[in-house]
Amino acid sequence: MTRFDVDVVVVGAGFAGLYSAYKARTEGWSVVGIEAAPEVGGTWFWNRYPGARCDVESLDYSYSFDEELQREWRWSERYATQPEILSYIKHVADRFDLRRHFRFETRVTQARFDDDASRWVVRTDAGQEYRARFLLLATGSLSAPKVPDIAGFEDFAGEVYMTSSWPQTDPDVSGKRVGVIGTGSSGIQVIPVLAAQAEHLTVFQRSPNFSVPAFNRELDDEEWEQALAAYPERRRTSWAGGAGSPHTSHPGDPLTMTDEERREVLEEFWQRGGVLFGKTFANQTIDPRINEFARQFAEERIREIVQDPAVADDLVPTDHPIGTKRICTDSGYFETFNRDDVTLVNLRKDPIDTITPWGIKTDQGSHELDVLVLATGFDAMTGALTRIDIEGPRGHRIADAWSGGPLTYLGMAIPGFPNMFSLSGAGSPSVLANMVLTGEQQVNWLVDLIHHCDEHGHTQVEARLDAAEAWGSHVDEVASKTLFVGANSWYMGANVEGKARGFMPYLGGFATYGALCDEARDEGYAGFVLG
Ligand code: FAD
Repeated sequence: MTRFDVDVVVVGAGFAGLYSAYKARTEGWSVVGIEAAPEVGGTWFWNRYPGARCDVESLDYSYSFDEELQREWRWSERYATQPEILSYIKHVADRFDLRRHFRFETRVTQARFDDDASRWVVRTDAGQEYRARFLLLATGSLSAPKVPDIAGFEDFAGEVYMTSSWPQTDPDVSGKRVGVIGTGSSGIQVIPVLAAQAEHLTVFQRSPNFSVPAFNRELDDEEWEQALAAYPERRRTSWAGGAGSPHTSHPGDPLTMTDEERREVLEEFWQRGGVLFGKTFANQTIDPRINEFARQFAEERIREIVQDPAVADDLVPTDHPIGTKRICTDSGYFETFNRDDVTLVNLRKDPIDTITPWGIKTDQGSHELDVLVLATGFDAMTGALTRIDIEGPRGHRIADAWSGGPLTYLGMAIPGFPNMFSLSGAGSPSVLANMVLTGEQQVNWLVDLIHHCDEHGHTQVEARLDAAEAWGSHVDEVASKTLFVGANSWYMGANVEGKARGFMPYLGGFATYGALCDEARDEGYAGFVLG
């Protein structure tokens, strides 16, 4: 077995992992990154299905740490496509010469803490062993795909593709009968594109979702020049904002507005597009009355677009307040259901009975398919970590430690696992904020922590159990005051059978979270045992 000794092992080469490697090297630490994919990019390497785009504007969904990088990369659209985001990440890897730190096509299978040597011993499926002072798990919150457990799945004789691991060569579905299972963000993005290519598209929907048009557009030169001039202020407001982007809610109180005033505001925010509609009013995901204004407005838009009222009935979500599952951002999603060559199957009324070699049999019918596309989501926030066999010095295993739900201190450190940190994961703003900035903020904070350890001669740093419990209670308490906890969402772990239920990301806001992390640092890292 090949063995290597380094300061830092980083797992994952997405936005967070690349920045971790960059910072570690800048600080003069030896670093090795390990990535299962053959290339950098993380989410944007794997999710290359047609129609994939970011739903945070490109200007914001990009690194902020290097002024020149920010100025030299020219985004072509308001919401970049997957190929453009992947090109950007590759550009960053080349520009800062980061690829040389990574071992690609290599999966971390095991990590054990050697207490005597204060080293993580990290093993890979390629038979290598890395010993590291610090282990940074940049393994992603939406990177452990969930395959549905449907009877007969193995028997299907046609082509099967998952949106979360789409083939590098785009499959040609023209002239084919295509079925899509899943209508979350990925399903909603891929469905209009597949509908335009396939002979017939059948959409199998269990949970309808709210989706708002992206109103995407090209960024012309004039707009780009203006954006560049405004960038410093845009970033400043993003860092000070609730979700790592420069957008804020309408300042007015919808409860005291007239119907007309409220509709004007809702229309204005609708036109901003996508997830930004979720921000229309400050208390939209807290006060059910305010939520209802936005929900009704969205329902009316769906019913305006979808011509067949029975299909519209099936597409209107009725089981969760708007915004408590991520609002999807689409380009012609609801319009797709007006096509003659598209069929919607509402699995709540007509559940899947079995998958057969030639298609899908539901309670009420048979759907012959040549291609099956699974847009069935992820074991979100915890799946990538618990799929690694991680063992701390006192025999704690991560899968057991988190069997009742993830417990972290400040969303990064886990009691029982010294010198190991998770990035963009449970207990942090994570998927509720612009994740590029979240990654930068956490890595910067961890760099300070490692310096603190080195300066004070500490070889081990471990989150205190009471500090993690207090943080967990805070995360729960903030969530419990919102409508989020009433939805069966992947934020709650509800999409994975047997997974513990609890609201996983931190809802207190991006800037507030950063301030709390800084406070913990300024108070001498009292939430940690340092030894
Ligand atoms: P990832 O990009 O997920 O990278 C993690 C990497 O770790 C992966 O490459 C994976 O292969 C690797 N890995 C995991 N386990 C192992 C292991 N055991 N061994 C080796 N390698 C491993 N967020 C936004 O803020 N805005 C958006 O618009 C947005 N759009 C999205 C669209 C889609 C389709 C998806 C799926 C997610 C989207 N997200 C968005 C969330 C997105 O995941 C993050 O923004 C961001 O890309 C996460 O970066 P990361 O580095 O934390 O993780």
